[in-house]
Amino acid sequence: MAFPDYVVEQAWRRAGGKCECRRRTHNHPYVRCNKELVWANRGREGRGKWEAHHISSSGGDTLSNCEILCWDCHKISSSKLSLKSKHRRF
Ligand SMILES: [Zn+2]
Ligand SMILES: [Zn+2]
Repeated sequence: MAFPDYVVEQAWRRAGGKCECRRRTHNHPYVRCNKELVWANRGREGRGKWEAHHISSSGGDTLSNCEILCWDCHKISSSKLSLKSKHRRF
């Protein structure tokens, strides 16, 4: 399951190029992560890398189910072990 490009682009604009994660179990300094991301580095190594995340695994490939996450948040959100509030520092 993957988002079509136009959905990712719309989500990116909505996010303002920053991580949209609001999960309380993460170690964000603010309510929203807001980490600045780099468009060209989706799913790649490098500064500001990020991924388009399915908010609900059964929600489909729509804009409302697409969340722009920085790599760190995406990694934690994709892992079921992360549900324990183990704070990681990067
Ligand atoms: Zn983040
Ligand atoms: Zn997060």
